[in-house]
Order: sequence, then C-alpha cells, then structure tokens
Amino acid sequence: MSKTYIPVILRRQITEAAKDCCEYCLVPSSVALASYHIDHIISEKQGGATVFSNLALACRLCNLSKGSSIAAYRIPEDELVRLFNPRRDKWSEHFLLRPDGFILPKTPVGEGTIKVLNLNDINRAEVRSVLLARGLLGER
Ligand SMILES: [Zn+2]
Repeated sequence: MSKTYIPVILRRQITEAAKDCCEYCLVPSSVALASYHIDHIISEKQGGATVFSNLALACRLCNLSKGSSIAAYRIPEDELVRLFNPRRDKWSEHFLLRPDGFILPKTPVGEGTIKVLNLNDINRAEVRSVLLARGLLGER
C-alpha cells in the first residue's frame, strides 16, 4: 500500500470512475467494513505514477493481496502475464462472475489476477454471492 498523498480531487475522480466499488472484485465500498484504498495499478516500486490513468479503487483485501505486483506467473506455461488494469481493460472481457460468487477467468490476464489478488477465497466468493443475489454487486 502506497503512502503517497493522493489529492482529494483525484481520489474523488477515481471513486466516481469506479462507481464506488472495488475495481477488481466488484464489492461496493458501502458494504465494506474497512475503507477502500487507492491502488497504483503499476506500483510505485515499478515506476507507476500517481495519476488518474494509473490509479484504481480497491478494497482492502484486493489491495493488500496485490501489493506491488504487476504480473502473475503461470506455472504450466512458464510465462509472466500482466495483471488486470481497471483503467484500460473491461472487467467482463477478462472475468465471468458466477451466481455462486466465484470469478472465472476468460483470459490469462484474468487468471493471473484471480490468483495474485486471491479473488476466489471461499469467504470472498460467499460475500459476492449474497451481494449478487440482492442486486448489490458493482457493475461489470
Ligand atoms: Zn476487491
């Protein structure tokens, strides 16, 4: 998690673009117990700037799981794939949300992001399932 100051106006722009939902797991901040983080999509450690095009709204679990990661290692393929970029990529092109709350990958980017961000933790999937059934999950 970055300690860089993010101006209030920029934070508002990101939150608005994200429709106040985590841009990785789709859970709205209104149902979260902890405040959401502004994530550097390309981490500062990797030279990512603090600008709109490199920032995303992330829940605590996604942000802490992602850390400074920008890629995932696919073991059988022996290759690195970049992670999902909420500013450039469309969620539904990389992921499919099942009614039981589990997220299926549609692409290697989706697969790697699910792994690194631990998106299919059983508890997280269960929360998404309940939110989905109540129509409270973020747009995809
Ligand atoms: Zn999340």
